[in-house]
Amino acid sequence: MAESANPSSVGWTTSSPDMTAAIGHTPLIRLRRASEATGCEILAKAEFMNPGGSVKDRAALAIIDDAERRGVLAPGGVVVEGTAGNTGIGLTLVANARGYRSVIVMPETQSQEKIDFLRMIGADLRLVPAKPFRDPGNYVHVSRRLAEEIGGVWANQFDNLANREGHRAGTGPEIWAQTDGRIDAFTCACGTGGTLAGVALGLEDCARAAGQARPQIVLADPEGSGLYGWVKADDLSITGSSITEGIGQSRVPGNLDGIAIDDAERIPDPEALDLIYDLLIHEGLSIGGSSGINVAAAIRVARRMGPGHRIVTILSDGGSRYQSKLFNPTFLRERNLPVPAWLDR
Ligand code: PMP
Repeated sequence: MAESANPSSVGWTTSSPDMTAAIGHTPLIRLRRASEATGCEILAKAEFMNPGGSVKDRAALAIIDDAERRGVLAPGGVVVEGTAGNTGIGLTLVANARGYRSVIVMPETQSQEKIDFLRMIGADLRLVPAKPFRDPGNYVHVSRRLAEEIGGVWANQFDNLANREGHRAGTGPEIWAQTDGRIDAFTCACGTGGTLAGVALGLEDCARAAGQARPQIVLADPEGSGLYGWVKADDLSITGSSITEGIGQSRVPGNLDGIAIDDAERIPDPEALDLIYDLLIHEGLSIGGSSGINVAAAIRVARRMGPGHRIVTILSDGGSRYQSKLFNPTFLRERNLPVPAWLDR
């Protein structure tokens, strides 16, 4: 056998890390047109590059690591979760790597692409009708009961603070390092709030250690969610609706508890969609609906702060996860949403 085939000579050994080493450490991309239009630097974390294709790989790993540390998850164990899809994908991949099974409960309204992907990677998928949180049939409650029934670990991403702690230890310090600590504001939308809260805490830790003021934290919200009103006026009431997935809330999840949020932006779908198509065709970035909301919010924050500021946001997942919705002329037309020219031939 050739010398170079010896594992130690090519830099890997039998103790090489598993797939979880590929989670996080994502590039921070400059959004050229948004930056030029505002005179600010608008930067976005490329979370679609995670192995499961979304920011939720980070939460999945943090939750499983935490369960292992607490001794509640051992090989052969089962992880159960209610999810809009991305957390289920992350949990299933990490579970596969670590020798666990995953049972994933998801509202049937979520994109076919996420459903297909979950089945492809071996999740035990349970689709349920979409119900409000107050209804016992809501996917979160179904997943909790299922975890109890089968004696599995309920990941409980909304209220399990391991979620935000993962972002506090990873995403936040990564952003700090990638900006050399020069960051004026961070904004993103919330599903569990783990990303917003964890990045806020992580940046605050880094700023304190550097003797600097912390950046502004701005919550981005789609229509049909109560969080904008909660930040602005302590009022969770809801108006409108959105085709985005994985973001928006009718309650305040535990992960947002105690977080200093300075402001909020509510973004209508057409504003987000315009940016999604613009970034795709002019900057080669294929992103999903929540990322469009995030970029729209970053632009609004930049306009409010004025030129010369640096704003960071999150590209949560990729456009291919929503091909049948955001990039489907029939779907868009049925909802009176704009159809981009190149999809309309
Ligand atoms: N964007 C997408 C596409 C998501 O799936 C999620 C999580 N459901 C989020 C954003 C929100 O992230 P978080 O749960 O950390 O608030």
